[in-house]
Amino acid sequence: MSLVNATCIEKTYQVGDISVRAIRGIDFTIDPASFVSFVGPSGSGKSTLLNMIGCLDPPTAGSLTIIGQDITIMDRKQAAHFRGEHIGFVFQDFNLIPVLTVFENVEYPLLMVQNWPTKKRKARVNSLLEAVGMGDQGNKYPRQISGGQKQRVAVARALVTNAKVVLADEPTANLDGETANRIISLMKKMRDEFGTTFIFSTHDPKVMQSAEIIFTLEDGKLLKRRNDNGGTND
Ligand code: ADP
Ligand code: ADP
Repeated sequence: MSLVNATCIEKTYQVGDISVRAIRGIDFTIDPASFVSFVGPSGSGKSTLLNMIGCLDPPTAGSLTIIGQDITIMDRKQAAHFRGEHIGFVFQDFNLIPVLTVFENVEYPLLMVQNWPTKKRKARVNSLLEAVGMGDQGNKYPRQISGGQKQRVAVARALVTNAKVVLADEPTANLDGETANRIISLMKKMRDEFGTTFIFSTHDPKVMQSAEIIFTLEDGKLLKRRNDNGGTND
């Protein structure tokens, strides 16, 4: 069974009496444990698509199922619950909470969505911080660590609830080339270790090449899909 299954999905934003057709009828499937990027110029629909897969904003037409669940028929509360259980987010600006320590930032989703006993929760946070190479930085505040380290923490936070899918909107946009590569490698390592599917957007050609499946968006349409074996199907 595929993890994400999109059929003829569309997204039209209504701004006053103007309709903006951001996504114009696209189909794709994503298998479990995939490493996928959506690429395309600014305005091509990458964020819109990630927001739909992330159950933040439903399609206006078509069908979108994630882990076999049709997300287009969920109400806001069901979508929020589903998101908390199954989906992690990594953002280009890291989105760490400045008044919380590194440890507390990673712990936060567990406190919000899952009622874990304290000891188990602490162990889980520590194992994730270890996995991203930040095991000895838990007591620091976001302002005390580098951009690359912040993004490592963000990856740990996205994975802490055992999400099946991690969505990353331009996760390397605010990182230098070398640090960007390290974050991509880290995400791939996490995919190998936990079987998490990573779906990220980027317009950086170097970052794009590291994905195993590349979907190219242009003007709300899907141009092509490239698999890591070099094959394409339009
Ligand atoms: P990308 O992430 O590739 O830059 P977006 O998904 O942000 O593309 O945008 C796709 C199109 O949808 C653009 O024309 C953008 O202006 C429009 N758009 C995005 N979000 C909104 C919104 N909330 N309201 C109206 N139009 C939007
Ligand atoms: P942009 O596409 O403009 O760069 P962001 O990447 O900051 O925007 O956010 C993408 C979407 O995710 C937005 O709709 C935002 O409201 C939502 N969002 C931001 N932070 C969180 C969060 N911590 N949890 C869930 N959704 C979030």
